[in-house]
Amino acid sequence: MTNKHKASSPKPPQILIDNNFSPLSIEIIKSLKKANHQAYLVGGCVRDSLVGMKAKDFDVSTNATPEEIRKIFRSSRIIGKRFRLVHVFSRNELIEVSTFRANTSNLKSTSEIVKDTDGKILRDNVWGNLEEDCVRRDFSINALYFDPTENILRDFHNGIEHIQKKILVSIGDPLIRFEEDPVRSLRAIRFSSKLNFKISHEIKEAIHEKGYLLANISNARLFDEFCKIFLSKEAFNNFNKLKSFGILRYLINTDEYKEKSFGLRLQHAALINTDNRIKSAQSITPGFLIAALLWPKLVDATKKDGVLNLSKFFRTMDLVIREQQELTAIPRKFHGYIKDIWSLQLKLETRLGHQPYKILNHPRFRAAYDFLLLREEAANDKQDIGAWWTEFQKVNRPRKIEMLQILRDSRKGPVEKKFGFLEELS
Ligand code: ATP
Ligand code: MG
Repeated sequence: MTNKHKASSPKPPQILIDNNFSPLSIEIIKSLKKANHQAYLVGGCVRDSLVGMKAKDFDVSTNATPEEIRKIFRSSRIIGKRFRLVHVFSRNELIEVSTFRANTSNLKSTSEIVKDTDGKILRDNVWGNLEEDCVRRDFSINALYFDPTENILRDFHNGIEHIQKKILVSIGDPLIRFEEDPVRSLRAIRFSSKLNFKISHEIKEAIHEKGYLLANISNARLFDEFCKIFLSKEAFNNFNKLKSFGILRYLINTDEYKEKSFGLRLQHAALINTDNRIKSAQSITPGFLIAALLWPKLVDATKKDGVLNLSKFFRTMDLVIREQQELTAIPRKFHGYIKDIWSLQLKLETRLGHQPYKILNHPRFRAAYDFLLLREEAANDKQDIGAWWTEFQKVNRPRKIEMLQILRDSRKGPVEKKFGFLEELS
């Protein structure tokens, strides 16, 4: 073994040795090594285990080519074009196995490396060795390779030291690395929040300088990244960081609302609510969060002189979704969901005739009611409509009839078509 290898193979911390990595990933590493290939766990699973977090997915990296990997594992398939790799699966697990790649920063376009005029890598399928594979990874803490069958750790970029110091450091010049792949800006913010790590000065600068290149990323990839950033227990934190770096607008089609405004308070309430739901293992959907984040835009576009123009409200719903769609490809199934939440806000407020009974059975009632509570939380002029619905859901039929009667009696004359909280309409 050369000195270089010794230097990069420290004794693995005990926490890594004691970790229960996924059985399938260990089987895969054993099989690859038996076929005379190198193979390691890499990326998030090694990083998260080292900071004492539960790893959620397991990536394996090897010098076997996709075709060689495919031949070793019966249950596997080669995927991807821009970035070819192999999915190996069992009944309840799927492991991504990727081939070591060469560093491509200094290469011009070839048939296997394709860059666009901004320097963005469009295809990256040049195989390399382990050292080269490290270099193409984004951050030092994501470039730790661990062989759990022999407890060997490879650390070429001081990843262990950076984990101890709790700092995110780029591999190579982040100005170039973020040009090659602008999504790295978002990843830097996401990891710093998730791990509670500082972001190195160079990375901060690169986000400021190269963040605008996110405009070139496909809306499908940005929707994936939207979900990772906002459905992660760190939505509130990430929202604020994205805003301070000036790159929130590549993920959310929102105006910047002033401190203490209704718009900002609602967005904050929705983000904090998402974080709390994840922490208490309640279900979450990107649809709900998108509906909340875009609500101020919808209301702003629809209100005039303190009143909501209802026909404009319904017409504008599609427009607001379409504009968001240009940033992040929202799957179709969420479009109806978002519009239901929005339009139910009107019905939850008016509660005309027998409608409240119907609304209770609406498949989106629960989401719309939760959203109403958030709007009330954000508004200073509460009307306690949320409390009314909280009670109406719980009580028996005679009390329901009574509640509706009280409501009718309280409304003298024709029901006003006015809708919304004073504050959101001002
Ligand atoms: P998590 O799964 O928690 O989001 P992760 O680090 O595992 O974090 P993945 O997207 O699963 O992230 O990628 C696995 C590894 O592949 C990363 O740790 C990193 O080494 C490398 N990688 C992923 N995306 C990029 C990228 N855009 N640029 C450079 N390296 C990347
Ligand atoms: Mg991962």
